[in-house]
Amino acid sequence: MEYQSVTYRIALKKGHKRMFEYRHSDSDGKSIDLPVGKVVCVGRNYLQHIKELENEVPSEPLLFIKPSTALSHLHKPVVIPKELGPCHNELELAILIKSTLSNACIENVEATIWGVGLGLDLTLRDVQNVLKKQGHPWERAKAFDFSCPMSQFVMKDRIENLSDINFSLHVNNELRQQGNSQDMLFTVLKLLANISKTFTLLPGDIVMTGTPKGVAALSVDDQLTIELNEHFSVKTCVV
Ligand code: ZN
Repeated sequence: MEYQSVTYRIALKKGHKRMFEYRHSDSDGKSIDLPVGKVVCVGRNYLQHIKELENEVPSEPLLFIKPSTALSHLHKPVVIPKELGPCHNELELAILIKSTLSNACIENVEATIWGVGLGLDLTLRDVQNVLKKQGHPWERAKAFDFSCPMSQFVMKDRIENLSDINFSLHVNNELRQQGNSQDMLFTVLKLLANISKTFTLLPGDIVMTGTPKGVAALSVDDQLTIELNEHFSVKTCVV
């Protein structure tokens, strides 16, 4: 499709150029024929992570959005902002949507899932804490350009059980985050149904399902290994 071949160029500080070149890709690295849409993110979906940041357990999913300009390819170097305080890793299961989902009940959700991948919800933690105190939205801390490095997607048919998926992040060969979707407060299907009551999910949208514990600052030159158990392992670095 024509719109998928458009590449935008932006100038970053100090003359660096980065391109918006993200496309959804499959396990073989081939482009998936879906547009690149919004990313709906879920906060506070794992108890141990809620405790580590001393937040309250939500009675309903906490939602925010990253625009399509937040997406980048995880297998390329992860660029972090340099002068805005610590930039934290939040590794999350990511769900790619293949057909429209609006005001759905839970039985209708599964058929709209293309597949499952892993994304980083990069978070400027100090910026977020200031915004929280002010009662302001979080976008400046979480929705900046390239704040959502995204892996390839495994087709849903190849995922045995959406509620038992293991994933992990190693930083410089040390385990930093390990999650299993069985520990989610709201399951993938519940999340999608709930989200669709507020935001219509369109083909090519992604839902990020919350981070397990282990969030911490990333540093330039960190080596990252990100694994969706039994499916893929991506090695990348921080620049
Ligand atoms: Zn997150």
